[in-house]
This record gives sequence, structure tokens and C-alpha cells, in this order.
Amino acid sequence: MAALRVLELYSGIGGMHQALKESCPSAEVVAAVDVNTLANEVYKHNFPSTPLWAKTIERQACSRGLLDKTRMLNTLQTGEIGLQGDVSDPRTKSFLYILDILPRLQKLPKYLLLENVKGFECSSARNELLRTLETCGFKYQEFLLSPTCLGIPNSRLRYFLIAKLHQEPFPFQAPGQILPRFPDQDLEDLFENKAAGKDSSSLSYEEKNLDPNIGPDCSSKKSLPKGTFLFKLETVEEMERKHTQDNDSSIQMLKDFLEEENEEMSQYFLPPKSLLRYAFLLDIVKPTCRRSTCFTKGYGHYVEGTGSVLQTAVDVQLESVFKCIEELPEEEKLMKLSTLKLRYFTPREIANLHGFPLEFGFPDKVTIKQCYRLLGNSLNVHVVAKLISVLLG
Ligand code: SAH
Repeated sequence: MAALRVLELYSGIGGMHQALKESCPSAEVVAAVDVNTLANEVYKHNFPSTPLWAKTIERQACSRGLLDKTRMLNTLQTGEIGLQGDVSDPRTKSFLYILDILPRLQKLPKYLLLENVKGFECSSARNELLRTLETCGFKYQEFLLSPTCLGIPNSRLRYFLIAKLHQEPFPFQAPGQILPRFPDQDLEDLFENKAAGKDSSSLSYEEKNLDPNIGPDCSSKKSLPKGTFLFKLETVEEMERKHTQDNDSSIQMLKDFLEEENEEMSQYFLPPKSLLRYAFLLDIVKPTCRRSTCFTKGYGHYVEGTGSVLQTAVDVQLESVFKCIEELPEEEKLMKLSTLKLRYFTPREIANLHGFPLEFGFPDKVTIKQCYRLLGNSLNVHVVAKLISVLLG
């Protein structure tokens, strides 16, 4: 088979390129397109020999003579096309533009892979995408996948679509369905459950070796009504879910993804103001935990809901810190909270969780906040690598 020629649209820092390198080393990214100057700097730093078109996709298409349907045909040739669209206005516009020209290309790409945020599956852009794919004769399958399905302790639920032109349907194709797992996993599970005579989601806590009435701190929660807040504005249900995740040995521990603590780490510790203001809203994890929440582009800047923070004083009990803390004067409150030694994950650690290899780096001039922003927009490399393998069969 001739080497794949790939066009990487909305390339960002090159998560798709990295995934392609992992799953299909012989493939060549013939061009990457992105309008973000900083993302492009990082892309060039890591993939210096890939032609990078630093313009909007719409303008790029025009200046490259797309309207007379010549140049872009060459680039799309037998290649694959990596896209990331978004339902927010400007990107949807460029995305709809791509959908508009796709059927008019003389030579369609053989494969397509698209990543987007969860929620895209409910957008009109997605309906338009499916219509276009059907018109062009693509066979496709949609997914909603998180890195946890590969044993990575990070939630990052994303929409994916893979498509191939003029071929047999995928063996796992499920029309009208969005698959929540990789196809081979489905098969493995099917066999396992057949043997066990049940569906794994019906396993009770006891069968999973967890007692629902015993909290992670070994306290009894029997009498608490549903939805009751425990310490730290967390409900029993939330706490149970976290406890279950932390005991799921199919997921790696966070410590496998962490850098060694050193003096440089001091810059990542949460400032007193954030501690006092947001302590109750933080998602706090220890190195031995097997979960972390999705790191977004506001991480390190906005505190609430942007990603987990790490408790580096591992022997301190969360509950003992948070109990009755509300009534304390600020100074004492801060003292108590400080004993946890909470810090942000470093950009390198987030890159590790995203599956970027150690040789992937950021140019020196990119600030930490900028790294968080770029990584927050990026994707999990291993998830995409596996999808590419599934796509290419
Ligand atoms: N997969 C990428 C991230 C994609 S985020 C990664 O691994 O980093 C979406 C990217 O699309 C952003 O970098 C943004 O700059 C770019 N973008 C959005 N609208 C665009 C347009 N009209 N033309 C070109 N690039 C665009």
C-alpha cells in the first residue's frame, strides 16, 4: 500500500500528527493548517519538516486555488484528512465550508478522522457532516471515548468519527449508534460477559469488592440520605464514584505520569487566595489515585472545573482538613489547607496524561499558562492513535 498522505486541519500543537506517528509511522503529513500563531510555533518546534499553512482554512482554500478545484485535490489525494471542528461560530463556518467543497473534489480522501468536544453529536454541523459523508459514499462510525478506556487516569470525553471511502462497512459498524468504547473492547467484553453470564455494568459493589456503606475514610454512611453533602461540598454519590474509580485496577495510578518533585515545583503550588476561595470546589487527587478530571484551557488560571489538583502531602487526611474548617478564621483556615500541599499538574504531566512522548516539547518562550491553554485544546494521542489503527484496519 502506498504511504498515506495526510492533511491535518485545525492542527494546533499537532496531537493528530503525534498520533499518526504512533500508529502509522510511514504516513506523511503533507500539510497542516491552523491560524493560531502560538500553536503553530509549538507545531513547528516538534514537526519542523511539515509544511504549515498559517491561515484560516477558508482563506487557505481560496489562495491555494481551491475554487478552481485543482491544488487542494492534490493535497487531499489518496490521503486521510484530520479535522477538528467546533459548534462555536467561526469554526463551524470553516467546517461547513469544508463540507461544502468535499463532494465537489475530483478525488476524495480515502479516510477521514474527526475529533470534537462532547456535544458535537447533537449539533446541526454533525447532521450536515453525516449527510455529506453519505452523499460522497463514505462508510462511517461515530464514537464517544475517554482516555480511561485505555487505562489512562484522565477523563476527557470526546466525540470522534472515522470514515472510509467506497469500501465494505466497518465490521463493528452500528448505524445510528455512537459507540462508547473501542470495537475490540466490545468484543472482549462480550466474550467475558457471556462466560460470566452477565453484563459488567450490572456488577454490584460487593462483586467489585467495594462496600457501599463504607466511605473511603472507613466511616459509615448508611444513614445519609441521597444527595447529602459530605465535607467539601461533595455528595455521597460523587464520593462513591471517585472511590470506585480509585479502586479500578484496570486504570493506571497518576504517579506513573508525574514528574519528580523538585524546587521548580514551587511555582505550581496554589496561591493562598485560590486556596481560601476555592478549596471546597477543587477536585483533589493523590498520586495513588486512578482518576483526574478533564484539563481545560483555563487550567492554572481559573480554578473551578478546569482540572484536578494534586495533593503532594500524601499522608494528610482530606477529611481532617476540611472538617469544621468553615468556622475558622482565615489565617487558621489557610494553615490547615496548606498542610495538603496542593499544586497544579505541570504542563509536562498533562502532556504525559495526553500521551505526548517525552521528546515532544514546547519552545522556551511559551509560558506555562500558554502551555495549559494549548494542551487544553489538544487531544489524547493514544486514543487517536488507536482510532487510526481501527480506521486503517
Ligand atoms: N488537535 C489540535 C487542537 C485543535 S483545537 C491539537 O492537538 O492541538 C482547534 C484549532 O483550530 C485551534 O488551534 C484553532 O487555532 C484552530 N482553528 C479554528 N478555526 C480555524 C480556522 N477557521 N482556520 C484554521 N484554524 C482554525
